[in-house]
Formats: sequence, C-alpha cells, structure tokens
Amino acid sequence: MEEKQIKALKTVLETPKKIVIIPHKNPDGDAIGSCLGLFHYLNQYKHDIAIIAPNEYPEFLKWMPGEERILKFEYQTDSCNAILEKAELVFTLDFNALSRIDEMEPALKNFQGDYVMIDHHQAPADYARFMYSDTSMSSTCEMIYNFIDFMGDTDKINKDIATCLYTGIMTDTGSFRFPSTTSSTHRVIANLIDKGAENANIHNAILDTNSIDKLHLLGCALKNLVALPEYNTVYITLSREELQQFNYKKGDTEGFVNYGLSLKGIKFAAIFIESVQEDLIKISLRSKGDFSVNEFSRAHFNGGGHTNAAGGRSTLSMEETTQRFEALLKDYKSQLQ
Ligand code: 5GP
Ligand code: MN
Repeated sequence: MEEKQIKALKTVLETPKKIVIIPHKNPDGDAIGSCLGLFHYLNQYKHDIAIIAPNEYPEFLKWMPGEERILKFEYQTDSCNAILEKAELVFTLDFNALSRIDEMEPALKNFQGDYVMIDHHQAPADYARFMYSDTSMSSTCEMIYNFIDFMGDTDKINKDIATCLYTGIMTDTGSFRFPSTTSSTHRVIANLIDKGAENANIHNAILDTNSIDKLHLLGCALKNLVALPEYNTVYITLSREELQQFNYKKGDTEGFVNYGLSLKGIKFAAIFIESVQEDLIKISLRSKGDFSVNEFSRAHFNGGGHTNAAGGRSTLSMEETTQRFEALLKDYKSQLQ
C-alpha cells in the first residue's frame, strides 16, 4: 500500500465511522479470517462495524472468534440493505471485483462512501479509493497483518485477531506448503503464535471435522477421477445426484481437487461440481509450476483467481463441460508437458 494512501486512510479512521466489511461469495477460511481479524482490530476504536457475507459458509469455519456477528445477505437481506445504506466505509476483503459478491452487488449501487480493497488475486478492478492489492501475498490474512502494521498498531494484535489471521493464512497456503508461502509468511505466523494463536488446535478445528458422509463423498469423487496422462491433467466430477446421495453440506468438497494434484507428475487438476442450488457447474482448478489456471479460467470458464488456484463456472451440462475441457487441453499441450 502506498505511503500516501496509508496516511489518508489513517486520517479517515481517526474519527468513528460506519464500517462494513465484506468477503467474497462462498467465503473460505481466508475470506472469513480476514474479515474477522480486521473486525477485532477496528473494533478497538469507536467505529460502528458490521460484517456482511453474501451467503452461507461451511460449518468448519463457525468456531472462529466473532463468527456469530457475521450477517448473511442471502438470509438477512433487509437488515443488511439498511446497514449498507448508511455505510461510510466499505472494506472488500479477499476479492477484487464487485461481481464476486454476486446477488449482493446491486445493494451497493447507491453507496457514496469509500471502498478499501485488501486482496491478493490477479487483475484488480478499479473501484476502491484505498487499494492494497498484492498478488505475491500468500493470503488476505497476511495482508491484514501487514495492514495493522502499516497503521502502527501491531501491539493491538490480540488472541482473537491472531487466531483469525492464522486460520486464513493456513487455509490459503494449504498448511504452508503452496509456493505463495514465503519467509515473510512464516514470520507473520510466528508473530501470530506469540500473540496467542493456538496452532495445533486451529489445524484440528479446520481439518479434523470430517463426517462419514464427507469421506464417502470423497470416495465417490476419487472413483470418478479421470486421468489424461497426455496432458499431465486429471479431473473429477460430482453430479447433483451424487452430492445428494451423501447428504452434501456446504464445504464438504473442500480440498477434493488437491487429491488430483497429488498424483505423481500431474500439473493440472480440475473438479466439476454440479451446484445443488443454482443451474450451473462450479469449477475449481489447481496447477503446479507455471501453468496459469487463472488465465485458463478467465479465458474459458468465466472465472479467475491465482496462477495455481482458480475457480470458474459452466452453464453447460456435465458431459458437455468435460468434453469442452478435454478439447481445450489440446491448445495447452506444450505448456502441460
Ligand atoms: P476455489 O476453487 O477454492 O473456489 O477458488 C480458488 C481461488 O480462485 C480462490 O482464491 C477464489 O477466491 C478464486 N475464485 C474462485 N472462483 C472465482 C471466480 O469465479 N472468479 C474469480 N475472479 N476468482 C475466483
Ligand atoms: Mn485468499
């Protein structure tokens, strides 16, 4: 973040403000962790703060300190609209284009105040007066730590902030193993442990909460895996019927795509999941090395993200979607070998 912007934002935050903090739709650990971490920080000043998520998020995030304060636009639309109408400052965290909040976007049409974007995805849109966008960052939670540091307030980091930020960094880095994990990330993590983040307990709370249904659904997903050795690519499908057979709950498919990427020699893994709620297929893409799934998704599946992790969607049938995917690979053969 530029020095000038830091100073200007500090001035804005010197007087009490009506603040709304927003994560992207289908928020993950980094989105919820960054919103709550920022909330616990700003709440030490005399601001009036709401956190509004566009929609529901998985159970395994619901132990996080302050989580019960998060409003969900899909369920509490009227009260959320009333809060947004009065907002003076809106923080958008872990996304960088307003289309990523989907059905909530129109609620911000009349917003006259300033946006603050804190985000690590590629290709930021131009809507924020204050912009902290850095694609080299492991996670938005690492950026919230830096943001608090820019404000000269690391002494205000308490156990709640540390717990929330640790959780988001851990989930977005695949427990500190993705290439986005830097020595700075580890330094931030070390500081968060010093501030009270209970590392082993957080890993358990996030990762060791599987249900029998989820493990059976994973079994189904792995059975459905298709390998395309010619392209060092694998993909997994899950139909609506399969999800329903195993009593699918939000978050149950989290991490499934990584099993594809764990196969020896594989550079590109995809999972296609029929939405239970909408008439579309949600796509998650992962890669190793230089192959950019962000560019692939932007070009073909109406999505985006990072070089090695991106999402997208398809409105074709499952069969048409996978056929299209396989056909597209031909154009990327040299990159994938
Ligand atoms: P996931 O596959 O876990 O849903 O998403 C992987 C990464 O891509 C996350 O950082 C997520 O925020 C981002 N992402 C997922 N879906 C979309 C999308 O439709 N558009 C953009 N721009 N990013 C996405
Ligand atoms: Mn993130």
